[in-house]
Amino acid sequence: MGRLDGKRVLVTAAGQGIGRASAIAMAAEGATVFASDVNPGLLADLDGITALALDVRDDASVRAGVAQARPDVLFNCAGIVPHGSVLTATDDDWAATFDLNVTSMFRTIRAALPGMLDRGAGSIVNMSSACSSIIGAPDRFIYGTTKAAVIGLTKSVAVDYITRGVRCNCICPGTVDSPSWQDRVTALGAELGSRDAALDRFVQRQPMGRVATAQEIAALVVYLASDESAFTTGQPHVIDGGWSG
Ligand code: NAD
Repeated sequence: MGRLDGKRVLVTAAGQGIGRASAIAMAAEGATVFASDVNPGLLADLDGITALALDVRDDASVRAGVAQARPDVLFNCAGIVPHGSVLTATDDDWAATFDLNVTSMFRTIRAALPGMLDRGAGSIVNMSSACSSIIGAPDRFIYGTTKAAVIGLTKSVAVDYITRGVRCNCICPGTVDSPSWQDRVTALGAELGSRDAALDRFVQRQPMGRVATAQEIAALVVYLASDESAFTTGQPHVIDGGWSG
């Protein structure tokens, strides 16, 4: 018996990192998983999982993906991490990051929610971050603002559908080892003149003295997707190695 037997799941940004690990973990628990990414080539080697090309910034693409997946569980994982402060942020980066990190969830939820309401059941899991309204991080001005908005969006959806069987929660990780995080370490290393110094700076944020694996975050996604979490909705679930503690 899998913990997600009988559930259909749609994951955005499942090509790598947390989205990919979560798609694999949910399939291992018996879900029928539709793993989507704007770059479907990254999904080619996922066994027993249906791969979908889906750009969360394109409403037609979102609607087509949702129509195919008909999800009971929607994991909105897509997001980017622009670097910089309020004085270095550009209007274009602000708009593009809000579109990818927040408006994308408006698109996917409005496409997937009617089916969940018809069935009287559903779990929506949104990707926020510890860096949000939970804690500020240096040079994460646009990023932290968008991830705080995800918490507000999550609470708003949760309260509107709380009596109709649909739950909506979000996940707030600390630093997680993923391809884009490795790129951020490399970029900071170039700035500091040492990749090890950059790595150290990221690791030191977590009092546990390490960063998370994508699989550790996927375990929380499985829990929130499953009926084990039936009594939680509208909550930011922090998983950050003690960073915000
Ligand atoms: P990642 O950044 O390495 O990979 C992101 C994936 O998103 C890629 O496969 C990419 O192709 C896909 N993508 C980009 N634009 C897309 C679009 N328009 N439509 C669909 N897919 C698109 O993965 P990650 O680091 O695990 O990050 C995943 C999520 O977790 C993000 O929302 C991120 O903000 C959040 N997060 C990450 C960390 C971390 O330290 N890695 C911490 C907290 C939260």
